[in-house]
Amino acid sequence: MVDATSAKGNAGRGDIVIRNATILTMDPKLGDLAGADIHIRHGEIVAIGQALDAPGAEVIDGSRNIVLPGFIDTHWHLWNGLFRGLVSYYRPDLGYFPMKKLLGKLFTPDDIHWAVQRGLAEAVHAGMTTVHNWAHNIQSPAHADANIKSHIATGVRGRFSYGWAEGQADDQPMDLADLPRVKEEWFADGHDHLLHLGICVRGPETPQPEIRRDAYLKEWETARALGLPITMHAAQMRAARSRAIELLEADGLLGTDVQLVHCIHASADDRKRMADSGTSLSISPLIELQVGMGFPQTGEMLEAGVLVSLSTDTVAVTGANMFAIMKATLDIERGRAENMALSPRRVLEMATIDGARDVGIADRVGSLVPGKRADLIMVRLDRINVSTLPAADWVSLLIHHAQPSNVDLVMVDGRILKKDGKLTTLDEERIIAHSEQAITGLMQRGGLLASA
Ligand SMILES: [Zn+2]
Repeated sequence: MVDATSAKGNAGRGDIVIRNATILTMDPKLGDLAGADIHIRHGEIVAIGQALDAPGAEVIDGSRNIVLPGFIDTHWHLWNGLFRGLVSYYRPDLGYFPMKKLLGKLFTPDDIHWAVQRGLAEAVHAGMTTVHNWAHNIQSPAHADANIKSHIATGVRGRFSYGWAEGQADDQPMDLADLPRVKEEWFADGHDHLLHLGICVRGPETPQPEIRRDAYLKEWETARALGLPITMHAAQMRAARSRAIELLEADGLLGTDVQLVHCIHASADDRKRMADSGTSLSISPLIELQVGMGFPQTGEMLEAGVLVSLSTDTVAVTGANMFAIMKATLDIERGRAENMALSPRRVLEMATIDGARDVGIADRVGSLVPGKRADLIMVRLDRINVSTLPAADWVSLLIHHAQPSNVDLVMVDGRILKKDGKLTTLDEERIIAHSEQAITGLMQRGGLLASA
């Protein structure tokens, strides 16, 4: 076990060279490199090129592997992944939203801890090196602390977005008094981990936005006074006829510090509002399809000049699989637009460098360039579903054929979190056992299961 929590010390960060790989740097100058090496020292990429001189470095064989930046998931409700397998299409009382309403307020800090551990273990398996942790079930300061501590302990980079509590009244803001405490205790200058702080809000995304207005104005004001980025679901369902984006603009609430999620039913004016203000968009095509929201407006948003990134949303009803998310993004857009204008590489950018831009860390990660931190993955090609001769189009091979099981190595900030297809720092069996205990307890307290 290496200590995966410290961002400063060099524990677990060695001197490593990956040799003879196909490297997709996602950097416009460096491009793709065949038979190339990448040298990482103390968490930093120090060189990329052919036959690098790296005396003393541990050598990892990259032949028959693609090396690329780790995937960046820009919106994920890690806490409610515990509902996986419990949500039923055939039982309306066990739908995703009824489950959230029934069990959300019953979560203990310990339940949150194991939900975050299980979600991020799944993320590492799938090659995600950054996760935007949308924490909208903060029942108490202890729940916030448990969530943050759990995320930090995994060694996965991310943003923790502090949110409201399940069951909280619509006209009440989140616990704004706790935000400065959390900032001071966990995120003050000199903090020693890979997580940064933001907030997630309900905002005017509701049939009666005027009820919430005072609350969300206070949330925005507090976040901006503390310098925290803000994220919100918007224009999700056609029936709701959301005016959220228009209302946000009217109050001067859009901006480069704001990420909106889904925006399936945004109007042309809304897209212009987002582009003009520098507001970004995270889409979650697998969830948007599954819950009947509609199709993501990938092409229209890109055309308008909006930064678009990709997300899982929740593993309550789908798995963490950026390959599938990329494939869905690409194929939906091509089918919907009846043309092939959206390229696989543009979609891979959304999953890597544009994700990094969305969560404000593109100066450190999102592409493989000397001087950046080493967040990268190796995708193994000598497997039945991806093996090929040297491919003409590595990016299409990844998007259309690869799966999380092909991710052989995952490195975050120079630390190896998965190697030879196995997690190296997280104890999978222990996480499974404790998560199952947490789910059992929640179901018993919620009256879905008889107490033992
Ligand atoms: Zn969401």
